[in-house]
Amino acid sequence: MRIFLALVVLLSTPYLVLAQNAKKVLFIGSDGTTGSELRDIPTPNIDLLTEDAIYSYDAINNGITISGPGWSNLFTGVLDKKHKVVGNSFEKNNLANHPDFLQIIKKHIPHYETAAFYTWLPIGIILNETDTRVARRYAHGGDAFVHQIAQDYLRNEPADATVVYYGDVDIAGHNFGFYKEVPEYYREVVQFDRYVGDLVDAINARPTRSKEDWLIVLSTDHGGHKTGHGGETLGERNIFLIVAGDPVRHSELRRTNHRKLKMDDQLPLKRLKRYGFDTMPTQVDVVPTILDFLEIPADSYDLDGASLLGR
Ligand SMILES: [Zn+2]
Repeated sequence: MRIFLALVVLLSTPYLVLAQNAKKVLFIGSDGTTGSELRDIPTPNIDLLTEDAIYSYDAINNGITISGPGWSNLFTGVLDKKHKVVGNSFEKNNLANHPDFLQIIKKHIPHYETAAFYTWLPIGIILNETDTRVARRYAHGGDAFVHQIAQDYLRNEPADATVVYYGDVDIAGHNFGFYKEVPEYYREVVQFDRYVGDLVDAINARPTRSKEDWLIVLSTDHGGHKTGHGGETLGERNIFLIVAGDPVRHSELRRTNHRKLKMDDQLPLKRLKRYGFDTMPTQVDVVPTILDFLEIPADSYDLDGASLLGR
């Protein structure tokens, strides 16, 4: 009898596996990468991703344009009023009550393996319960270092839900200016695009790739103004958000209101609507989108955004 049962299980397993592809999520972040500048700098690998993506280069950081709050918005799905990260010190934060999406995924799908690769160490304060963690300070080639390991991980490991963070674009912005006309900034954006291409190649080289559905999300914490950020100019608020992958149909979300606004002009939250940015995606849409893809109910997390799938 026991042998018979074992046989039944053995015979039926392949059909169960075929029934639904395994769902995998990769979030790729590039610090300080303004939406308008990314749109205009040639980035062939990212362009390829947008062929099957819901995406916008008119997306907005509708919170504080500093890394701590920006990444907290992206990873928790709530704004600073809730996560209470208002700067890079993370003092008196409320992240314990607003878990990052890797923790949420782990809670609902315990066998999922989560991982974070990053070069800005405070990312580890937000993503603080990953199964795998590779952190190295961005100075001295940090991005290239974690990139190598992230590539191997995505190629060879279960990699169910993964975050890869790059910091070099932001460093170039601070040193030389956050503008496509600045060669150092331009060069780092091009390098980021190569990194993206490598990660996609790693995924496509997985032996199990044909049995997997991938959602690949790309975004940034803030843009820039001159050699800084933290204020409310359009340049600082303007981010990009790309949700690409096997189940996604091409859709570019563009600002339809053509009221002129220069990158250096002030864009306080109360003026978002006036300039047509109120309907553009924001950072807090990322978590609801990922949970939607994984069919995890979002109701209990009091999220501030909405899923972009289907938009
Ligand atoms: Zn910065």
